Amino acid sequence: MNIVLLGSPGVGKGTYAEKISKIYSIPQISTGDIFREAIKNETKVGLEAKSYMDKGELVPDEVTIKIVKERLEKDDCKNGFMLDGFPRTIAQADALSEISKIDKVLSFVADDEIIIDRLSGRRVCSECGRIFHVKNIPPKIEGICDICEGKLIQREDDKPESIKKRLDVYKKQTAPLIDYYKEKNILAEIDASKPIEKVDEIISDVRKALEE
Ligand code: AMP
Repeated sequence: MNIVLLGSPGVGKGTYAEKISKIYSIPQISTGDIFREAIKNETKVGLEAKSYMDKGELVPDEVTIKIVKERLEKDDCKNGFMLDGFPRTIAQADALSEISKIDKVLSFVADDEIIIDRLSGRRVCSECGRIFHVKNIPPKIEGICDICEGKLIQREDDKPESIKKRLDVYKKQTAPLIDYYKEKNILAEIDASKPIEKVDEIISDVRKALEE
């Protein structure tokens, strides 16, 4: 099954993606994670992506489409994949339709207030990338990852100036994809406003949508 996860930054896509990927045994492909890894390794793509990411802007379509195409050609995508954070523009969605057939698009929805709270409190492990939240998903020891003991940091683009910009970019450039996929009859809307303790209910709604 080939799945796309849509939703505003901060809606919790990364958290849901990890669970869905385990249930269906398909790889989670996050373009944001691919760019962050490239930045860490100081590759050419990483250097190019960094200037856009720090400002909360989208990395140009040509660069993004190329990395996704290369990733989807890998063997582990043969039995399905889940895209988290791609496509984010109509041009990317058109390019994706040439690369692969998408079976279902899950659109996660929550109010702006919830989104801003999730983004501003988010902390990520600088080593393994695991996501925490100062109130909603606190680590056992403040500032330290439960899994690998790496240091928890706040992403540069989770700081207030970038959050506003990313939400604007989402509304202008990515939200039109909801209608784009609705017209193709493959969109399912999922209420993601429930608190983290109820993440299993959200995942159960996802399973219903994927198995209907
Ligand atoms: P994310 O972790 O999905 O919130 O992505 C972090 C940042 O990576 C975004 O704000 C963009 O700068 C960049 N990025 C991730 N995915 C894409 C995409 N599909 N198109 C353009 N830029 C992207």
